[in-house]
Parts: sequence; structure tokens; C-alpha cells
Amino acid sequence: MKIIMLGAPGAGKGTQAIRLAEELGLPHISTGDIFRYNIKNNTELGQKAKAYMDKGQLVPDELTVDLLLDRVAKEDCENGYILDGYPRTIPQAEVLDKALAEKNEKIDYAVNIAVPDENIINRMGGRRTCTNCGETYHIVYNAPKVEGICDRCGAPLIQREDDKPETVASRLNVYHEMTEPLENYYKESGVYVEVDGTQTMDEVFASILALLKD
Ligand code: ADP
Ligand code: ADP
Ligand code: ZN
Repeated sequence: MKIIMLGAPGAGKGTQAIRLAEELGLPHISTGDIFRYNIKNNTELGQKAKAYMDKGQLVPDELTVDLLLDRVAKEDCENGYILDGYPRTIPQAEVLDKALAEKNEKIDYAVNIAVPDENIINRMGGRRTCTNCGETYHIVYNAPKVEGICDRCGAPLIQREDDKPETVASRLNVYHEMTEPLENYYKESGVYVEVDGTQTMDEVFASILALLKD
């Protein structure tokens, strides 16, 4: 099964994608994680991507599309995958659909996690991210067992540079302008489903599973 997670930055895509990936036994592919991995290792791609990410802008499609196509061509993606943070523009969606169509495949579900902007500010402000495995926490809604330490792998947690309030506003603008139109794109192709992302994490997860089983 191939699933795309849609939603504003901070809507809970990563949180739900990790759970879904475990539940369905599929790889979780986050383009944001891939960029952050490249930044951490100071690769050429990382250096290029960082300039955009720090300003809350999208990394240009030229740097993103091939990266994603290479990733989904890997063996572990044979039975499907959960995409988290891709596509973020209509052209990115078109490139993916075209590559899939060439293999007679298609996306099964585009799951939109709907959360109003007011809640987003709160979520991003409290988000903490593992420097090693990418797991996310929230200082109020999903606190780690030991403050500042990842439950999963024991590495330190940080506040992402782009989760600071100055950047969050521009990321939300970019989302409304560039990414939100994907809702109609996937409605037209008949794979769009939506869940109320203001529910608790467990409720959101249950809502998603219920939709997939239909
Ligand atoms: P969030 O979890 O808040 O939605 P991500 O980790 O998915 O954020 O992405 C962080 C940043 O990485 C984005 O603000 C953007 O700069 C860049 N990025 C990630 N995925 C893409 C993509 N598909 N296209 C362009 N830029 C991307
Ligand atoms: P995204 O990948 O869409 O940017 P995340 O999954 O990283 O979003 O979630 C953003 C922040 O909100 C994190 O701190 C996360 O722990 C928290 N969060 C996620 N889902 C919920 C929820 N249903 N209720 C409250 N907080 C949530
Ligand atoms: Zn970790």
C-alpha cells in the first residue's frame, strides 16, 4: 500500500506516519528527515537544502524530486511506503504519479490531517525532535519519559531551528500557497481521505486506520 500524509507543518504527519509504518510493516519516508540527515553530515545537498529550510521555504523541486524517486525505487519499497512531507507542490505530485504510472502503479491513499492554524503554532512551539532517529515529542502532549532524551534511542532532543516562531509563520504561508492545493489534486484522483487532526494522537491514528480498512 502506498500512502501519502498531507497536512500543515506540525499537523502530526510524522507522528502518524511512524505509527502507520509500524502497523503496516512499510517504510516511513520523510523528505524532511532525509534533508536533515544530509545537513548533519554536511553533504552538498545538505548545504543547499539548509539555506531554504532555515528560512521556512521549500527546497526547490529540482533538489527534491530525484531524491524521492531514488528512495522509492529501493527494494524495501516493493510493497509500498508511507510518504511524509512529499509531495509539497503540484509538480512534485505529478512527477511521482508519472513514475508510478510507468510501472502500472498508483497512490492508494492521500490522508489529510486537518488542523487549524491556531493549533499549529502551539504544536510547533512545543515540538522537540531527536537528533539521532528523528522521533518527535511535544513538551505537553507527548513528553519524553526523561526530559530532553529520546525514549526510543537515548539521544538528545532539540528544538528544530525552523520550529522557532519567526519561521513557523512563513512555513504556514508556504503551506497554504504551495501545498494545500494538493487536497484538490488528490480529490480529483479519488484517493483523498481526511481526518480531524485536533483529536488526540491515539484518536487520529484510529481514525486513519478506520479509513484505510474501508
Ligand atoms: P514538518 O514536519 O514541519 O512538516 P518537514 O520535516 O517535513 O517539516 O520539512 C522540513 C523542511 O524541509 C520544510 O520546511 C522544507 O524546507 C523542507 N522539505 C521537506 N520536504 C520537502 C519537499 N517535499 N519539498 C520541498 N521542501 C521540503
Ligand atoms: P508534522 O510531521 O506534520 O510536522 P509532527 O508529527 O512532528 O507533525 O507533530 C508536530 C508536533 O505536535 C509534535 O510535537 C507532536 O508531538 C505534536 N502532536 C502530533 N500529533 C498531535 C496530536 N494529535 N495532539 C497534540 N499534539 C500532537
Ligand atoms: Zn531517537
